[in-house]
Parts: sequence; C-alpha cells; structure tokens
Amino acid sequence: MALDEQDADIRELHLEALADADPYPYWYEDHDEPDSNPTLVRTETCDLCVIGGGYTGLWTAIIAKERDPSRDVVLIDAHEIGSAASGRNGGFMESSLTHGVANGQARFPEEIALLEELGLKNLNDIEAAIARYGIDCDYERTGVIDVATTAHPPSYLDELRDDHQQLRNLGQKVEWLDGAAMRAQVSSPTYTGGLWRKDRAALVDPARLVWGLKAAAESLGVRIYEDTKATSLERDGVGVLIETPLGRVRAGKVALATNAFKPLLKRIGHYVAPVYDYCMVTEPLTPAQLASVGWVNRQGLSDIPNQFHYYRLTEDNRILWGGYDAVYFWRGKVNTELESRPATWAKLSKHFFDTFPQLEGVRFTHMWGGVIDTCSRFCVFWGQAWQGRIAYALGYTGLGVASTRFGAEVMLDLLDGRRSLATQTDFVKDKPLPFPPEPFRFLGIHATKWSMDREDRTGRRNAWLRGLDRFGLGFDS
Ligand SMILES: Cc1cc2nc3c(=O)[nH]c(=O)nc-3n(C[C@H](O)[C@H](O)[C@H](O)COP(=O)(O)OP(=O)(O)OC[C@H]3O[C@@H](n4cnc5c(N)ncnc54)[C@H](O)[C@@H]3O)c2cc1C
Repeated sequence: MALDEQDADIRELHLEALADADPYPYWYEDHDEPDSNPTLVRTETCDLCVIGGGYTGLWTAIIAKERDPSRDVVLIDAHEIGSAASGRNGGFMESSLTHGVANGQARFPEEIALLEELGLKNLNDIEAAIARYGIDCDYERTGVIDVATTAHPPSYLDELRDDHQQLRNLGQKVEWLDGAAMRAQVSSPTYTGGLWRKDRAALVDPARLVWGLKAAAESLGVRIYEDTKATSLERDGVGVLIETPLGRVRAGKVALATNAFKPLLKRIGHYVAPVYDYCMVTEPLTPAQLASVGWVNRQGLSDIPNQFHYYRLTEDNRILWGGYDAVYFWRGKVNTELESRPATWAKLSKHFFDTFPQLEGVRFTHMWGGVIDTCSRFCVFWGQAWQGRIAYALGYTGLGVASTRFGAEVMLDLLDGRRSLATQTDFVKDKPLPFPPEPFRFLGIHATKWSMDREDRTGRRNAWLRGLDRFGLGFDS
C-alpha cells in the first residue's frame, strides 16, 4: 500500500527499524505448534456443534464437556485453530467484560459492580483452567497500567484520575502513579501519570493459549476438524444441519463462535463490523536496553486516547507494540491481504521511538494484523435463533482474550436453558444498536475515526461524537 503524504516524514525517520521485519505473527514462530487436524469428509452427528475454533469456540467446547462429559461435541474451524485473532493478539488478558469499566459504567450503571465481580471470577477461572490443563502459555499476572502522555491533551490525565476514583469506589486494587512514579516503573519521557490496575489483568502468549485450549478440548473428547468451513445452516428435524465443503454435521444444538468473519445468520451482520488491528514485535532487548526502560514489574501498558497503543514485554524481553489504527474496509471486507498494512506499521514504528527514544537502533522482527469484531457497545453480546437451537456470542471489540470464556459460558447457559446470575442481567439480555447499512456504515465509521483523532489532538469532542454518545453508538478498536 502506498504511504500517503502525512506518512512521508515517518518513513524517513523510522522505516529502517522495519527493514528486516517478517510480515508474520511473532507468536507462530514456535516449535510447539500442534499438528493440523483432519478436514471433515463425511457426515458427523453430535449433540453440540461449535463453529469457530478461537477462544470463544474452544471454551464453549471445554465448558460443555466439563458440565456434561456425556455430551457429544464437535468443533469445526474454517482454517487452523488459532489462525485468527485468538492466535495473533497482544496477549493482554483483562478481567473487564465491558471493554473497560468506564464503558461498562456508561452503559450498565446498575450492573457494573456485578459485572466487574463476574469479570474477576472469569479471570480467576481461566487461571485455574490453565493450571488444571497444564497449559504452558507464559501466564504472568502482572496487571496493566493505563498511562497518560504528553502526546495528548491534559484533560486525558483528568479522565484517568476519574477512572482511578471509580475503581477505588468499586473496591479494586489500583495504584495511582504520578509522572515521576510512572517513569520509575517504565521509563519514557512522555509519561505524565499512570493507573496501575494490579490484580485484574495477566499477560499470556496467545498462540500457546489457543493451542493449549485445543489440546484440553481434545483431552475431554471433543472432535475437532480444521479447514472445515460451515457454508450454511438448515433446520433438520429438531436439530440443525451444517453443510461444509466435503461433509456435513447433524447437531442438536449449534454454538456460533465466528467472531468478525462472514456471519452464518444474517441478523449478526447488522451488529458487527470487522475492523483490522495491527501490531509488531522488536528483537529481544539487550540487558542494557532493558535497563534503560526499567519495566521490572513487567506490566502490560496501554495509553488512553481514543486511538490507543498497547505494549508489553514478551517472555524473552522483546517489546510487542500495537494498536492506534483500527481500520474498517469498504463493505466490511475480510481477507488475509488486509493483515498487512505498511502505512500503519510505519506509523507505529514512529510512535514507538517517540515513546522510547533511548531504544533508537532497536529493530522490529515481526509485524502483522488481524481482524476484530467491533460492535456499537464495544463488548460481547449474545443472541439465539431457531427456537433456541442456535446461540451466538461475539462483539468483543478487541478485548476478548479473557471475556471470550465468559461469552462461551453464557452462550452455553442460553443453549441449555440454564438460569444464571449472568443471564438475568441487561448486559446479557440487551443487544447493541445495529450499525447502518453501506454506504452509511463506511462513511459513519470514517467520520467517527476522523473525529476521534481530532479529539485526541485537541481534547474537544465534536458534534458528531456527541450525537453518537446520545444514541449510545460508537466505534472503537
Ligand atoms: C492484532 C490483535 C491484537 C489483539 N490484542 C488483544 C489483547 O491484547 N487483549 C484482548 O483481550 N484482545 C485482543 N484482541 C482481540 C482478541 O484476540 C479477540 O477478541 C478474541 O481472540 C476473539 O476470539 P474468538 O474465538 O471470538 O474469535 P477468533 O479468534 O477470530 O476465532 C473465530 C474462528 O472462527 C472461524 N470461523 C469463522 N467463520 C467460520 C465458518 N463459517 N466455519 C468455520 N469456522 C469459521 C475462524 O476461522 C476463526 O478461527 C486482539 C485482536 C487482534 C487482531
């Protein structure tokens, strides 16, 4: 892709650091990647068919078997398990079910305390499952710091202080870091303050997690087929017939875990917009380079504007650096070519060295992108179809590493007709507002991105964003 004019100066400054980077997810450079499973070439029958083998689908299959070992479960994925977002994300495993407490508070003020509690339980349940199934995914419960920087208006620091107060009111373990205290944790001349959320986030190797979940599901007796795309659903007596290119599945119930990909039920398409997110990884830092940034507590970091960066250390002390651009393509296009976006990588490289000038000379080894399922409420929603034979959970909007397990649990509750604390909430019962059809969707999303970028520079929310706020609509990565 050609770099636009604005990108030309960035190219001069920081393209050199990208010169040898592989356009490929760093996490896949791993000798422990499991062998592929067979393609489905016959008719399978089962009680539950899970369509989609990312975290949502795998947790659905695992919890279904944990609840009832006699339940016959088949999982199919169009490609390889973990080839989509679940194998290539930043590995920030946050307890929030609502894409941050501020979003949850704005949309579900009556329920936010309960949702935060359920989110923490969900994170603890994941930690227990990782231990129970022996999943080696470099799990580190370091917490995350939301950081304010000089790159953005001072009002953002005030917003961060408000968040701090809100989390304290909810009884959470948070620490306020003024500029100096923040720079003592991680050294960047740009930092003006930070909010360390201590016990509500972990970091993981996302690919090892998804592969570990695959092994766990198989150990429980789930039959997994890869390169097996569901092409259509049909009613089949009291069950559902799932057609695939070379076979079919006859299932009593179906769990749809297809995230941002072309939905198998038309109604899902009204609520979800596929958006591409990009990130990159440096070479391992030398001990001197690492000492120059400090970071001894190894937290995940994220800055706080609308267009935010997320970054963290890997197990071997590389820095993963991602976010900022969230790109929606015309008509919601999804394909592997869109996982490469040099203009965004160049921008990210510049932002990296603006933040850590002491790392000048460090090179990136990998850069990639992936698709996420944005919805207008920025967090997972659920639905059912065909008299309860089908359920779906999606809309995580870029914060699904932990909340997918909760999405799966609730999806099973809905399929099983099981009342739980969660299923009684408006959070589970309500749907996001639908996005408009094209071309209004494309124009609306681009107007929103333009306005958010302006707000990040000026601190002022324009009429367009205020209008969206009034309707509870929005767009985020
Ligand atoms: C670059 C990037 C960074 C991110 N960083 C973070 C982060 O740090 N923290 C965080 O919480 N979240 C992050 N996310 C988001 C997070 O990865 C996702 O929310 C989460 O992985 C979603 O899991 P999923 O199982 O719902 O979807 P996916 O992982 O997308 O899995 C969906 C699966 O469904 C399959 N499928 C689709 N259609 C069909 C069909 N018709 N038939 C069969 N199979 C089908 C696909 O092949 C795919 O494997 C990031 C995402 C990206 C792209």
